Amino acid sequence: MKHWIKAFSLVELFEGLFLTLRIMFRAKPTVRYPEERTPYSPRFRGMHALMKTRDGAERCIGCKLCEAACPSQAITIVSGANADGKRCAVSYEIDQGKCIFCGICEEACPVDAIVHTKQFEYIAEQREGLRFPKETLLMVGDSYQEEIEAAKAADARYR
Ligand code: SF4
Ligand code: SF4
Repeated sequence: MKHWIKAFSLVELFEGLFLTLRIMFRAKPTVRYPEERTPYSPRFRGMHALMKTRDGAERCIGCKLCEAACPSQAITIVSGANADGKRCAVSYEIDQGKCIFCGICEEACPVDAIVHTKQFEYIAEQREGLRFPKETLLMVGDSYQEEIEAAKAADARYR
């Protein structure tokens, strides 16, 4: 009987309409991407970058710890020596198509050479295009240095 009264009085319909009316005047959580963006965490793990020191030298010492730690085997490094005889990465490549953006490479690096940026809007028409060589990674590091340093500073007290 209770069920029939509920069904014929359209209680559930009015409840639904009332809910819609209530939500209609609230602030909208939807953002008009890409013109509007939600804030990203300082720990956001986007495209990788290789960093340089203040005097412009490559930070990477070619120790291969990131390569060994990477669970996706997305990093390929050839170590060697630079013109000063110091150990360095002669070639360094990350396959972004294999990467799962776990951040382990960044954690493993003893000299803060490999880092994540907040950039995620990149495409490649062929899978090969997602294999980022050292030159590209260094260029990304140069381009987003300020953003990367600001994110590190914001997160420093939690590390
Ligand atoms: S973020 Fe993870 S999966 Fe991607 S390169 Fe680094 S260690 Fe490998
Ligand atoms: S990025 Fe860091 S961990 Fe990877 S090879 Fe270079 S110095 Fe070693």
